Amino acid sequence: MAYDPENIFAKILKGDIPCDKVFEDDWALAFKDINPQAPTHVLVIPKGPYVSLDDFSDNATDGEIAGFFRAVGTVAREQGAVEGGYRFLANNGRDAHQEVPHFHVHIFAGRDLGGMIKRP
Ligand code: 5GP
Repeated sequence: MAYDPENIFAKILKGDIPCDKVFEDDWALAFKDINPQAPTHVLVIPKGPYVSLDDFSDNATDGEIAGFFRAVGTVAREQGAVEGGYRFLANNGRDAHQEVPHFHVHIFAGRDLGGMIKRP
């Protein structure tokens, strides 16, 4: 799938759409999810144009990958999520119901998050 430069997270990165930012560095932007599923629900996105984890892991530079995952850890710490624990999740493609085609990870924290996958 080709990257769509008009996807909603691309617009947030360009500043065309506002977000509730919690962290930014050279590699990543983190902001609160508009429809939170937990008391803490933050999205972390790389600054480069990658559709999914598959695209990111295959095509991003080592610097982008290291910078991004360090940012994810920093965000979790800054959100106070380490002590109680948190879930780190990335939806990729159709079966995972990925809605926004710009690679992102969710960080959920602040309550018991239950089992890993809900059965249909
Ligand atoms: P996905 O299913 O792609 O992993 O999740 C996309 C997430 O992006 C959803 O949790 C949804 O609530 C969130 N989201 C969609 N549009 C916006 C937006 O414009 N702003 C913010 N902050 N979150 C959004």
